[in-house]
Amino acid sequence: MIKVKYGIFSDIHSNLEALCAVLDDMVSQGVTHPICLGDIVGYNASPRECLRLVRELNCPVIKGNHDEMVADLGDARNFNALAGEGIAFSKKRLTNADKAYLSGLPMNLRISNFTVVHSSLDEPTKWNYITTDLEAESSFIYQNTQLCFCGHTHVAKVFAKSNGVRELPKADKLELKKGVRYLVNVGAVGQPRDRDWRASYVTYTPGASLIEYRRLPYDIELTKRRIRGSGLPEPLAVRIGMGA
Ligand code: ZN
Repeated sequence: MIKVKYGIFSDIHSNLEALCAVLDDMVSQGVTHPICLGDIVGYNASPRECLRLVRELNCPVIKGNHDEMVADLGDARNFNALAGEGIAFSKKRLTNADKAYLSGLPMNLRISNFTVVHSSLDEPTKWNYITTDLEAESSFIYQNTQLCFCGHTHVAKVFAKSNGVRELPKADKLELKKGVRYLVNVGAVGQPRDRDWRASYVTYTPGASLIEYRRLPYDIELTKRRIRGSGLPEPLAVRIGMGA
């Protein structure tokens, strides 16, 4: 019998080198079922290449707010200038067929016994950020499964709900306990914001009730050269190096 192991990744943001590091690692970790939580495009220099690789996985893909914007659907007022430049760049690089694909992505999905969403189960189309226990509580209200995976903040963290909601201390591994529900932010592949520039994703092995965080170095100097070479703003190259 094949052991099911999910590889759940989010916020690639056109960073080809980081995405390749994650895809390679998923193979070496024996991941059988990849899942992408969105924001494939925006910010960095390789939107077309990243979109092609994600589509080749033939896996569930959720819509992120940058995907929505690049597909011409969202409200640009919610974006700062740097994000706006990345959106405009991705728009130029993608075909109409690419944009149609992005616009057709679902906001959230139930997969086996868990849920996936880009931002929050509490009004997913509003792209709420979950950074506090209170914000996590709002999402838990709509979480009908023990486990939900999300991205969007670019910060890997886990909230647990039993009596109340609390953020768990940072750890590489999480063993799921009966009677506790979990909201797991998988962090970002292409632009982490927790002061650690390495690509982040998680594996989930249902048979062992185990989630493992993976952090992967990649050729970030090449990513920076691509950003600079494509005419994107310099701060985008600086921030990926800072993990900010
Ligand atoms: Zn994002």
